[in-house]
Amino acid sequence: MMKVLKFGGTSVGSPERMKNLLGIIRPAEPQIVVLSAVAGTTNRLVEIAALFSDGNKQGALASLENLRRDYKQFVDELFTTPEGKEHGKQTLAYHFGLIESLANDLFTPIEEKIVLAQGELLSTTLYHYYLKEIGISSVLLPALDFMKVDEDHEPMVDFITEHIKPLLAAHPDENLFITQGYICRNSYGEIDNLRRGGSDYTASLIGAAIRSPEVQIWTDIDGMHNNDPRIVKGTKPIAQLSFDEAAELAYFGAKILHPQSVFPAQKYKIPVRLLNTMEPDAPGTLISSVSEPGKIKSIAAKDGITAIKIQSSRMLLAYGFLRRVFEVFERYKTPIDMITTSEVAVSLTIDDTRHLDDILKELNHFGTVEVDKDQTIVCVVGDFGAEKHGFASRVFEALKHIPIRMISYGGSSYNISLLVKTSDKVEALRSLHNRLFE
Ligand code: ADP
Ligand code: ASP
Ligand code: MG
Repeated sequence: MMKVLKFGGTSVGSPERMKNLLGIIRPAEPQIVVLSAVAGTTNRLVEIAALFSDGNKQGALASLENLRRDYKQFVDELFTTPEGKEHGKQTLAYHFGLIESLANDLFTPIEEKIVLAQGELLSTTLYHYYLKEIGISSVLLPALDFMKVDEDHEPMVDFITEHIKPLLAAHPDENLFITQGYICRNSYGEIDNLRRGGSDYTASLIGAAIRSPEVQIWTDIDGMHNNDPRIVKGTKPIAQLSFDEAAELAYFGAKILHPQSVFPAQKYKIPVRLLNTMEPDAPGTLISSVSEPGKIKSIAAKDGITAIKIQSSRMLLAYGFLRRVFEVFERYKTPIDMITTSEVAVSLTIDDTRHLDDILKELNHFGTVEVDKDQTIVCVVGDFGAEKHGFASRVFEALKHIPIRMISYGGSSYNISLLVKTSDKVEALRSLHNRLFE
């Protein structure tokens, strides 16, 4: 029974941190270790790729040199033996050489994704060689050989299972497997990724693929807090969350978990623990099928939301109207997050605005369309079961001084979502926190 342990960017963010992982990883126990890129690397690769695609080759190469310099120092501090240093040097030469070689090609989204993949390839290879240097045997599993998404960018769990199992079985005497988070192949076989923060998703997908007894997400905070710790003071870790609650929080902006990362674990009821690398003995958060009745658990917020209102007298007493509206969004593969309706209007929100112009053009056939950008969904998660009257009124009480654009309540029994202007978000989060938790 193999556990899956994922370490995020900060947890591998310096040579010292990488070395400290052995306080958590037990090489004698069977496990798959998923690593993110060293903190900051993916952001810098995004910048480099942007410079390349803008045709600023000089700028891109200069930026790449800066990154290479930082990695040289990293390697210098990580390894102590001549052999180890040589492995480190070769690893950098290979991955930085590869990025450099793309400078002469046409730079398309395909090249961009190759660039973005180098962060996780670097961190895992360096860690593997570090373990080797200190005499610990491990196997590097190439995520690009098993992690795959389909034409809708949905992970293919059956494919992943079929392809990871033989890779593991090829090393029957090995306990410690290391693999890259975030990166995958798409339906064309090209290098792709699971979107920013995707290493959590990798860990959960591997957990589902091998039916792991537990997935551990090791990060830089002691679990899921009851509000965004970057915005609100005095937030506290939550000991226990149900899969549904955790999924809702991740989807609605709690950065500690990738938005989709709960679902694969949930499907096979694999417990997920959120733990702090800097404080390994802290209890963290356990996400499982168990839900605690009668409690408000946490508040999260998701920015970058666009609200669309369609007003139409044709909606009055008509059936089939909503279907036609939804079909427009379906055609452009644009998910809807919130929806509210009245007799003559429907309001809904999206966060993917790539096809907004086309969508609006089609919606204009139905009636008057209004668009509000820079909105934020504030989401309160907990047990709002029917008998828990009073919770909703506390939420509204806390927000009585803030204009609310939309409210969604009753869709599930564990969440209330409210749409506010992004400029009101900080006040909304603080006020809710005071009212619900202080
Ligand atoms: P990693 O690099 O380990 O994946 P992330 O930066 O992606 O780490 O996620 C951890 C960060 O998420 C925390 O440092 C914290 O600032 C932020 N965060 C946002 N909302 C929450 C929350 N509700 N609970 C805990 N952390 C949160
Ligand atoms: N390195 C990737 C990112 O920064 C994936 C991850 O850290 O989970 O988005
Ligand atoms: Mg993350």
